[in-house]
Amino acid sequence: MEETIWFYGICRFTGLMSMGRWLIRKAGSRVIILNYHRASGRNLRSHLLYYKRHYRIMHLEGALKELFMPDKYQEKRQDKRTILVLTFDDGFKDNYTNAFALAKELQVPFTVFLIPGYIGSRRRFWWLEGDHLVNHAQVQEILFEKRTYNLKLLADRTELSQAIYRRLHNARTVSDREAFLNDLRTALAVSPEYIKDNAGALTWEEIYEMQESGWVSFGAHTMHHPVLAELTETLELEDEINQSRLILQQKLGKPIDIFAYPLGKMKHIGEEAVKTVEKAGYSWAVTTEPGINTPKSHPHLLRRIVINAESNWVVPAAFTAGIGLIFLPFFAYGKALLSKGVWFYSFLITSNKQLMEGTKSSERC
Ligand SMILES: [Zn+2]
Repeated sequence: MEETIWFYGICRFTGLMSMGRWLIRKAGSRVIILNYHRASGRNLRSHLLYYKRHYRIMHLEGALKELFMPDKYQEKRQDKRTILVLTFDDGFKDNYTNAFALAKELQVPFTVFLIPGYIGSRRRFWWLEGDHLVNHAQVQEILFEKRTYNLKLLADRTELSQAIYRRLHNARTVSDREAFLNDLRTALAVSPEYIKDNAGALTWEEIYEMQESGWVSFGAHTMHHPVLAELTETLELEDEINQSRLILQQKLGKPIDIFAYPLGKMKHIGEEAVKTVEKAGYSWAVTTEPGINTPKSHPHLLRRIVINAESNWVVPAAFTAGIGLIFLPFFAYGKALLSKGVWFYSFLITSNKQLMEGTKSSERC
């Protein structure tokens, strides 16, 4: 943490961040879309204050209209700052308790991508189930995928949790995923009181309240959050993409024109899903491939910068100025060298521990 502040602090005090922001502004019409998931921790306020100072914060739909249809939507304005958009994926409860409270106080709009199949269901998001079930297992060992795990050992618990995550991630259908989860709960003898999730996802009441405030808009994020590239049935792929839009439109009484791909990297999406999203009538779709959007960006493969709400504010500051994005490949390369014992990159990686962890956790949803 301290090292992260130090590293990006240098970028700030040497003027690199200001220069990065200036270069992006001078490059022409650009939209920076940030991707959060959770809104917990104490740092989100400082992120928002920084964005308010340096960027023109807009709702996603308005920003994209201005980017792609400038003749129709771009007004002559004094504010020449680059447009920045905040998005939150999945609809975690803290988007209401933390982000919404801050949005009202600081007058900052944001967009939440919802998964209707989870809203009000009291089901835990599937990518959180591995850790949760292993932590509440009442058996001492389990045979899973031809390996016996001793649940008294921390290393075995961690590996089992990862194996469960992989199994859920690679599910070929949503019903297969849910059937596997049910069998696993039985095999691990998890008590019924730990099966339902009382605090995970937003409720419709909270969503309505956010919508009525005018500070929060919504987009679709499939019905049940499958990894789209893993689905084998075309019909199910179409259903996940179409149904989420229809239900949200019906419940919210507004057109839903933007889609966010679950997990969001190209390897999770697949060509078929992009075609299906276009065919379904969405005007735009966002990925988690890093980058800044231009009028030439593919409207159904828009880029976003993943930010961890718990990061110190200098991390999003560096990323929105383009600095973090430039350094990202070096850090990935450095990680490979680190395994070969190269000390200099070892230092850089330590400096960006939070960045690397943020990327890793975001890949889970
Ligand atoms: Zn997601």
